[in-house]
Amino acid sequence: MTSSVQLNRHIVVRFAPSPNGLLHLGHAYAAMKAHDYASQRNGIFLLRIEDIDSGRCRPEFVEAILADLRWLGLQWDGKAIFQSDRLDSYAEAVGRLKAMNLLYPCFCTRSNMRQAQDAGSLAEGLAGPVYAGTCRDLDTDLAIARARQEPHSWRLNVAKAVSLTGPLSWLDEGRGEQTGHPEQLGDVVIVPKDMPVAYHLAVTVDDARDGITHVVRGSDLFSSTHVHRLLQALLKLPTPTYVHHRLLVDESGAKLSKSRDSASLSVLREAGGDGNKLLQELRQAIFPVGISLSAV
Ligand code: GLU
Repeated sequence: MTSSVQLNRHIVVRFAPSPNGLLHLGHAYAAMKAHDYASQRNGIFLLRIEDIDSGRCRPEFVEAILADLRWLGLQWDGKAIFQSDRLDSYAEAVGRLKAMNLLYPCFCTRSNMRQAQDAGSLAEGLAGPVYAGTCRDLDTDLAIARARQEPHSWRLNVAKAVSLTGPLSWLDEGRGEQTGHPEQLGDVVIVPKDMPVAYHLAVTVDDARDGITHVVRGSDLFSSTHVHRLLQALLKLPTPTYVHHRLLVDESGAKLSKSRDSASLSVLREAGGDGNKLLQELRQAIFPVGISLSAV
């Protein structure tokens, strides 16, 4: 985006990659959609590196993201933002939810959850099987005592949260006015066992903090909006407009994944490929053989 044009501060969009692998064509497409949404409206385009998962994020992936975006010719406004610099504001939001008695410690392990899933005892929600609520009604004092000694995550009591907020709605530009059903994602984890905060809370706090007016992102995150909207209502944060674009998928209809090295941008960049040309092709929906756009 050039600095000679008058930026429209009423439109602020972000691209928010997680540096837990190399970016692929699907990310180039997503970055282009967010960038172009802002640039077509003289808005602001921010880059936010979502690096709170210190077990999986790596500095070399951050470097690759910055190099890939420059190679594509996608210029962001201001300095890149790093979630790892903002742990205090997530802790503050967690503290507020705890003070509202909306979080409870959960001692279920991944293998407990897998067993429940394999046994078919979990209800199917908007984004896969829904947590059965095993730890929701543990005696509070006992649960807090146990939490001092045992690894645990903190989950949101969604039914209680919804009873405080009442009905939720938001505008999705492509799909129209939406009504919130966060209970269909179950009691989501807000603080994982091994991370300072979960994606849902960090992204909601950050979108407000960064003044994001339009969340432009892939349709795989459409269902997450139910939780983000609930957290906005609980934390008294503004609600952006949402724009969920289609995803790049392979021959089998699966979205491209970070492990698919052939489509990684850094391989193309380091092989001397032309990033500007690639971006132009993505804009025109010209994709490599076997890659196409998802139906929704
Ligand atoms: N960091 C998320 C990802 O890489 C995207 C978050 C968002 O756009 O809301 O999938």
